[in-house]
Amino acid sequence: MAVTSSRQRPIQSLERLSEVVIDTLKELSSNRQPLTTSHLCQAMSGRTEIMNLLAHAGNGEFAQSPETEHQALVEVESLKQMVQTARADKKQSDLDAINLREQSSRVHSFCKRSLLALTGLLYTPNNSLFFEAIDRFKKLVLDEADLDVLEASLNELKNAVLNKDTFPKESEDGSGGLFGKWFKRKDASGGVDLSREVYLKQLQDAYLSILAEFRQDLGRDYLDHFTKVEQDVRESESLEQLLARNSDLLSLIQSYIRLNNQERGEVTDLISEIGHSLIQIEAQFLCSFDRTAEGHESNSAFGKMLDGQMEEINHSAQFSKTLAEFKELVASRLSAIRLALEEKQKADRHHEEASRKEKENLQVHLHSLKKEIDQAHKRSKALEKESLMDALTGIPNRRAYERRVREELQRFVRYRQNFSLILFDLDHFKLVNDNYGHWAGDKCLKELIKRIKPTLRESDYLARYGGEEFVIVLPGTDQESAYKVGERLVRIIEKTRFLYQGQEIPLTISVGVTQVCGSDQNHEAIFNRVDKAMYEAKQSGRNRAVLV
Ligand code: GH3
Ligand code: MG
Ligand code: MG
Repeated sequence: MAVTSSRQRPIQSLERLSEVVIDTLKELSSNRQPLTTSHLCQAMSGRTEIMNLLAHAGNGEFAQSPETEHQALVEVESLKQMVQTARADKKQSDLDAINLREQSSRVHSFCKRSLLALTGLLYTPNNSLFFEAIDRFKKLVLDEADLDVLEASLNELKNAVLNKDTFPKESEDGSGGLFGKWFKRKDASGGVDLSREVYLKQLQDAYLSILAEFRQDLGRDYLDHFTKVEQDVRESESLEQLLARNSDLLSLIQSYIRLNNQERGEVTDLISEIGHSLIQIEAQFLCSFDRTAEGHESNSAFGKMLDGQMEEINHSAQFSKTLAEFKELVASRLSAIRLALEEKQKADRHHEEASRKEKENLQVHLHSLKKEIDQAHKRSKALEKESLMDALTGIPNRRAYERRVREELQRFVRYRQNFSLILFDLDHFKLVNDNYGHWAGDKCLKELIKRIKPTLRESDYLARYGGEEFVIVLPGTDQESAYKVGERLVRIIEKTRFLYQGQEIPLTISVGVTQVCGSDQNHEAIFNRVDKAMYEAKQSGRNRAVLV
């Protein structure tokens, strides 16, 4: 047995003391107790070693020489440092503990939310048994039941899922309704063979189904990656090997999510690009809109083509695997539309030019036609005028007179506007022709009109009724005034000297005068009366006026 010197003993005691203190500190830390002085004292008070050491100290075993005292001070200092280190360690441990608690709480909350979300996905309204099992499980999760209770409920739920009676209806592909999409049942009995081999096969199929779905959404750029992961999944010979592929599968899913986020922005840009292009196309289209029949046909053909292209874009939008493919397609369709639009505008310009020329020709043609019509109109006016004029004397003829007298008669019937009629005939005019020739007779007729016309009112209407007979319509004139006019005419002609080749031709006229009256049904009635008056003038010696 080794003998301990008096100098070594206190050192050993101190070493022992420091060991006890450190142990105590570790104990406090592992018990997650705060490292305060009171806790330390409390923990140390339970240690018998301390009591023993203190007892030894009381017996003077710690009595020290100045030399050893110095040594002891050094050791105390070192102990203090150790205590400080221990405190720092403890502080760090506290922080670690807090982090761990937070992490654990997050994991706990995540698990709880995940379980609730998953049970929510399992909800099937037409299966009350299964629904009740889910409900029970959800309630336990919400109540934060003990793990063994939760596990029992989960088992109950699992059995309900795997039991074919829970989902008796088989979908078209022969798989169960709920997990059939990915976890297909292969066993004829409907039960689930959970042997590793079958489970491996089921898991492989599920992985392949998931991969197939992502292949459709990710498109060609990921083909190599897909083929590789697919091959690895197929060739996995054990569950461990297959589960090792999880990270590959996850990386594909991450790519999909990244792609989706990236594409969301690109889709917004693309949609605004498409919108802009379509607005431009629409503006061009409206510019080229033509109202002609030809233009209409070409517009409707263009419209059909545009519809077709748009339908194709729409169709492609549904089946394009990636945004890049869709963009490529939209760009090609838009350029096809633009080309078609350019062609159409070219054709429109051609049509426009043709119709402009046609319009010009038509205008020239119309102009000459209008000119012709104007001339024809003038000719017809002249002819009409001619047809109403007497060529020899230049005054209106019988037709013109009849038109005028009808009008006057209408005015009389409608407004009681009075008018009178004078008829005069050259006396023995046959003798004039016989004695001086027909030509001389003509000249006499012309001269006679020349003399009479200026003596009449502007409103009086003088016309040649026929041969050497003339008629005068006197609007607004009663029979007395008309008679005076007739008398005056007789006197004028009587006094007029008609000369032909130095010879004087004597001329007189017989005049009949009458006034319109209420019993006159037509102009013939008035004329008959005035003719009668003139006849009376002839009968009573000629060269006079008679009023009837
Ligand atoms: P009355 O006093 O009874 O009227 O005798 P009249 O000779 O005038 O009558 P009549 O009917 O016998 O003869 C009319 C003549 O007037 C005959 C015809 O040649 C002549 N006359 C009629 N119109 C024209 C004409 O335009 N020019 C010429 N020169 N003579 C005409
Ligand atoms: Mg006569
Ligand atoms: Mg006559």
